[in-house]
Amino acid sequence: MLIDPERRWRPQAACRGQPPGEYFADGGGTPDKSPSAVVQAVWDQAKATCRQCPVMHQCRRDTLGEEYGVWGGYDQHQRYLIRRALPKAAKRWPRQRRLAWGRVLAEYRDRDPAVPWIDIRLLTGIPQALAMELVKEYREYKAAEVAAAPVLSLPEPEARQGEPPFPDVRGRLDAWVRHNGLVADGYYQGETADGLWLLMNVRSGKSRARKWVRREDVKFHDPKPRFYIEYKERPDGPARKPAA
Ligand code: SF4
Repeated sequence: MLIDPERRWRPQAACRGQPPGEYFADGGGTPDKSPSAVVQAVWDQAKATCRQCPVMHQCRRDTLGEEYGVWGGYDQHQRYLIRRALPKAAKRWPRQRRLAWGRVLAEYRDRDPAVPWIDIRLLTGIPQALAMELVKEYREYKAAEVAAAPVLSLPEPEARQGEPPFPDVRGRLDAWVRHNGLVADGYYQGETADGLWLLMNVRSGKSRARKWVRREDVKFHDPKPRFYIEYKERPDGPARKPAA
């Protein structure tokens, strides 16, 4: 996992219940400046707690964008220096890592295009110029993949009796999905080889669910390259082997 924006590790944090003064010392100044010796001494105490923390690795991963204080054993100035060095470091990342980050960042943008890049930087620690570069690279990669692959093109599904019709407008994600008597946004994940079932990541409000749905319960806005998933995962059970 590249990042857990919900920070589900918090209940195990060693700093829970501790006074925040050590982590957010008065007089810490701005992140681009080295702290004074007095502030550094206070932060060192906080960092000693971080080193004993069972979730230090996760905390460090998810808090690179935090402006102030000590998080994950790093103080604000150290995080500032890491963020500043990221664009250069990212040039050496393996392609898969660049694409994985591009996908995460593109999802943040697609979820709400009005979200400013600064919010994404605060969430992920990725500076805006680098974030835009990774998103562009990811989108170009996906466009090339779509262009090269056979495209999933379903006939317009008809609403079954008693089920909600699909809206005429595009959703925010890949497709509309009928789900629990509602129509929700969904991402295409794959399908069974016979095309009867599609695996969709369905979002409704704040909840999301990875679920199999029948193909007639999906309406796509964007063509997607087909991706086949092993039979053993399909919801109506594994395909039977022909009798010998
Ligand atoms: S690593 Fe430090 S800041 Fe992060 S949860 Fe643990 S003690 Fe708190």
